[in-house]
Amino acid sequence: MTSVIVIGAGNGGLTSATVLAKQGYSVKLLEAHSYSGGCAGTFKRKGYLFDAGATLTGGFNNGEVMHNLLNKIGLKEWFAKFDENAMTVHLPNKIMIPRYGDDRRWDIRAENFGDESLNFWKWQENTADLMWSIANKSPPFPPQNLKDYSKLSKILLSFFSEHFPSSINPSLLKDAFTTLSNKLSNQNEPLRMFIDGQLLISTQTLSRYANSLFSASALDLPRRGIVHFKGGIGTLAKQLETSFKSNGGTIHFKEKVISISKNKNGYTVITNKNHSYHSNVIIANLNPWDLKSIIPKNQLTPKLKRLPSLPKKSWGAFTTYIGIKNEHLPDNISLHNQILSNKKFTEGNSIFISISPSWDTTRAPENQRTITISSHTNLNKWWTLLKNDKEKYLQLKNTYENKLIGLAKTIIPKINNAELIESGTPVTFNHFTNRIQGWVGGFRQENLFKTFPSRIDSNLFMVGDSIFPGQSTAAVSLGGIRVANSIMEQF
Ligand SMILES: Cc1cc2nc3c(=O)[nH]c(=O)nc-3n(C[C@H](O)[C@H](O)[C@H](O)COP(=O)(O)OP(=O)(O)OC[C@H]3O[C@@H](n4cnc5c(N)ncnc54)[C@H](O)[C@@H]3O)c2cc1C
Repeated sequence: MTSVIVIGAGNGGLTSATVLAKQGYSVKLLEAHSYSGGCAGTFKRKGYLFDAGATLTGGFNNGEVMHNLLNKIGLKEWFAKFDENAMTVHLPNKIMIPRYGDDRRWDIRAENFGDESLNFWKWQENTADLMWSIANKSPPFPPQNLKDYSKLSKILLSFFSEHFPSSINPSLLKDAFTTLSNKLSNQNEPLRMFIDGQLLISTQTLSRYANSLFSASALDLPRRGIVHFKGGIGTLAKQLETSFKSNGGTIHFKEKVISISKNKNGYTVITNKNHSYHSNVIIANLNPWDLKSIIPKNQLTPKLKRLPSLPKKSWGAFTTYIGIKNEHLPDNISLHNQILSNKKFTEGNSIFISISPSWDTTRAPENQRTITISSHTNLNKWWTLLKNDKEKYLQLKNTYENKLIGLAKTIIPKINNAELIESGTPVTFNHFTNRIQGWVGGFRQENLFKTFPSRIDSNLFMVGDSIFPGQSTAAVSLGGIRVANSIMEQF
């Protein structure tokens, strides 16, 4: 029987591992940390359960990726509740834009961005529907060999015969090569600001750089069904883990893989506990740099050899975790909020605020809730300060905390009464997820044709937010399913 080792129990690794275990493969999962979920894990501190990174999770409507995954792994339901408002976006001048997935969205768009914006939104939704319909067919993208090209051509042919000419936008081909700013040139400033804010947290870049097709799919989040997991987003990983184990998979926590080497029967993996494991196939839930660091130099593939020393144009996250009494939260505040500022206040001009649902009493002591605030930040500045002047590093951490809380105050006026529990910098993310320099969010989605492939060598695969289709809990699960499918086709 084909044996598989999965390195890392983030949502990407867990999805592949669970799908394969359900199909009867012998799968072993090695996770460096003491629990699963990675950037989408939930940790306990002072009686609160905080989502470490990701807080908003989508793709749960019927027919969407997370809903389809249930069947594939033999689970009946996710322990989660739907929210009709994905998030509220707060623009300067107290403009509040809730992001409903239902028909209310059209009036909200016309009211805030003008009737002339509706054509843009129609293009976005139509394009997103097409992109998700292709993605659900598991295309081998980017294609890497003749078999992939042949499969991709068949999928594209069947896609065009299903959709042409009724729903295919004539600009589809051009959109594959252009940035979203082409679609926004006649639109007003509030819409451009809104789109840039939304793209930064999804494509990790702005409309002048983001590929149009990636952008259309990313902007579609509210229509795909967003949910809140009971116990925090880490429950998603825990449910995957439960299904994985009940299908015969084994998981070893606190086992960091320090080397993988190829031999004639497959691979040998060595961990920090000096354990050695063997398998026919490896799935690495790592980014290319972290994978490269554990492969002997003489076994590197040309693509890994060519990597620059550090990921370019990469983002880190600054996060602040807060406990707050219910009475200090405004009535009817949305559970997810993005605040966009006219001024650049850290490296970006926005923060994302998530509040635990009032119905989830597992998240905080009685009558209290959690707040997570996050913002994009530069990686190097934190590492340079830490190396040269620890005092200045701590001062900067304090400055960022105050900035984030200051901006959050515009929608939570009583936030100063809350208890600040702790904050995380890229150094913290590196410590807890082992990601190079604490780089999070994967590659910026600028070029559809420059994505990193999932197959690294004949029996070595990558999953996670560095490979197509990119970052977000749903995208890494979709990538995880595609990798499991490739393995099932071949072995
Ligand atoms: C602050 C922040 C906010 C975000 N917000 C959202 C959001 O609201 N919605 C959303 O959908 N997405 C969000 N994201 C993105 C989302 O969290 C990620 O895209 C996704 O969780 C990445 O999953 P992954 O499987 O690729 O990797 P990871 O989550 O990084 O998992 C990799 C796992 O591998 C383990 N590991 C690493 N090296 C080794 C080793 N050598 N041996 C063994 N194990 C190892 C790590 O410990 C980790 O558990 C956010 C990310 C951050 C950082």
